[in-house]
Amino acid sequence: MAVGTVTVFSRSGHESFLTCRRKFYYNYLYGGAGWTKKQTPMELAIGLAVHAGMEALFRGKSSDEALEETEKTWASYTKEAREANPNNTLLMSQLEEGSYLSQAFILAWLNFRAEEFHNTYEILQVEEELRVPLDICSATVTLAARCDAILRDRSTKDLWVLNHKTCKDWDSSTWKYDIQMWMEPLAAEHHFGEPCRGTIINAFRKGRPYQGLLNNPLIYGYTNGSDWSYTSKPGWKKIFIPQTSIDWQDRIRKIPEAVIDTVLPRSLPVYPPTQPILTEWLTSITRWQLEIAYYNSDDVSQEERLNYFEARRCKFTCASCEFSNVCFGQTDIDTVINDGLLQKRIDHHATAESS
Ligand code: SF4
Repeated sequence: MAVGTVTVFSRSGHESFLTCRRKFYYNYLYGGAGWTKKQTPMELAIGLAVHAGMEALFRGKSSDEALEETEKTWASYTKEAREANPNNTLLMSQLEEGSYLSQAFILAWLNFRAEEFHNTYEILQVEEELRVPLDICSATVTLAARCDAILRDRSTKDLWVLNHKTCKDWDSSTWKYDIQMWMEPLAAEHHFGEPCRGTIINAFRKGRPYQGLLNNPLIYGYTNGSDWSYTSKPGWKKIFIPQTSIDWQDRIRKIPEAVIDTVLPRSLPVYPPTQPILTEWLTSITRWQLEIAYYNSDDVSQEERLNYFEARRCKFTCASCEFSNVCFGQTDIDTVINDGLLQKRIDHHATAESS
């Protein structure tokens, strides 16, 4: 066991490891940096596009530049899906919907949240990778975290991490269990040399799809011919606003506050667990990181390696897994890679999508 090794802890990798070690091995280690699905899932693409737009705004770019950045990111992550399925009309509608919704989130935040946000917080850092060496269990483990932003409360002077979250539903009750909410404040605390209170969530709620498409009031409306509504009513016709003659950007500026609160919901901050819990958690991840480094080294045979990175076959995870044909004996991992069915892993922003 390589005690004393410096390893890097990746939140998304750790969560993958806890779900299925074999998937973690293929996604993060195999062939050097791992392999993933060729097509970025749509919900992740929306998260990435919104993050790109918010990052542009936080770096002081104009609203037009932020929208351009949002659309550019959306187009790049959905290019594969668009080119592979040109005759799939539902997919084309979903792609159009995702493009406008990502931009609509940026516009809505600018119009309804930006002023209050900037009056409350000073932005200290935007999307900077923090690497924090921690001595645990006779090893040095480097925590790697990239916070969407690190903030200082203008009145209390407290330090906070900011996290943009795109989500289907609004359920803040589970966030305190998300290790991102522990790791990022810890990294910020070590980097700035002062306590970090926790995480402020900047939420973008998409809503759940119905018959493949969303009902988000930022881009959809309902009409009975003379009246308009932001929510569905029996017998009223659903309209995708960007396909009408209505100026969709101007319409967003006029949406009632109560409707905006449903798509940009507010929540209390998320606080990390107490120090004894954090210490116990850091000890366990250190042990896992050292084991992972050992079982991925040349010191062990491939058989031993696969035994350690065991396949946790289960209907909840395998059905949507890109490696299911490998784990269920129809092919092998090298054939899948050589057939061009996977792509080398890209280090997406790990916080893009929460549900
Ligand atoms: S198919 Fe199932 S067992 Fe295999 S890597 Fe995926 S989740 Fe794990």
